[in-house]
Amino acid sequence: MSEKPVRHILGLSGGKDSTALAVLLHKEIPQMEYFFCDTHKELPETYEYLDRIKARLGIKIHYLAAERGFDHWLDVYGGTLPSPNMRWCTVQMKIKPLEQFVGNDEAISYVGIRADENRDGYISTKKNIKPVFPFKERGLVKADIIGLLEDTGIGLPDYYRWRSRSGCFFCFFQRKYEWVMLAEEHPDKFAEALKYEQEHKDGRQYTWNEGETLLELLERKDEIIAQHERSIARKQKESAWKKQSLAQVLDSVLDEEDDALPCLACHL
Ligand code: SF4
Repeated sequence: MSEKPVRHILGLSGGKDSTALAVLLHKEIPQMEYFFCDTHKELPETYEYLDRIKARLGIKIHYLAAERGFDHWLDVYGGTLPSPNMRWCTVQMKIKPLEQFVGNDEAISYVGIRADENRDGYISTKKNIKPVFPFKERGLVKADIIGLLEDTGIGLPDYYRWRSRSGCFFCFFQRKYEWVMLAEEHPDKFAEALKYEQEHKDGRQYTWNEGETLLELLERKDEIIAQHERSIARKQKESAWKKQSLAQVLDSVLDEEDDALPCLACHL
């Protein structure tokens, strides 16, 4: 009996790096299986971006979803909102669906960590899923990634006007400016995030941000926007010679505000 061939998989997160990796490899590895772990708490811009990727590259994307959604797991975890130290959402809604998709097959998982990043490759600890890092192997950095996206006409996701990380609209890895802009761009989603802070069976109140509720943060909206605009102006001045796009400047400014390394399953 012939052995099952090794599978080649690439997880799209709706972010720029995983997309650029698909651009780089879609011709080189035609048997690549692309997947997106859908938490059903994504931004509309993410779905639109995935449609754009499919159309431009002519690839198929498997949309994987956990059998039980966020609300179920929130209940299981006693109403505790996920946080950088307790990322149950990533495990239950991103990693487990991926592991189910692969099963016991041998698979090579292509991960879009860039050569100019210092992040670990935590996607799955299953031994049959072996991560490889083509950008690192080829020495490709952020400017190369942007170039790949521009050359294919895919460009950056639309949320890049105000947010630089993919993932759930309520992601706790969001920076303060991004929360303010979520309220502006998607007031319904902001209201949903607010509800998660305020409504708990045990009467406790949890916050997405340490030490500040979303309402308190919103009260400081003008101050947060003014601070952000000052940072953008400074960064534009500093990097005028680099001819960076506004999206690239935004990316650097937000990285300065919060250098916490987001997780690989959601933000690539
Ligand atoms: S994007 Fe953020 S909130 Fe959503 S699963 Fe990932 S870490 Fe959790």
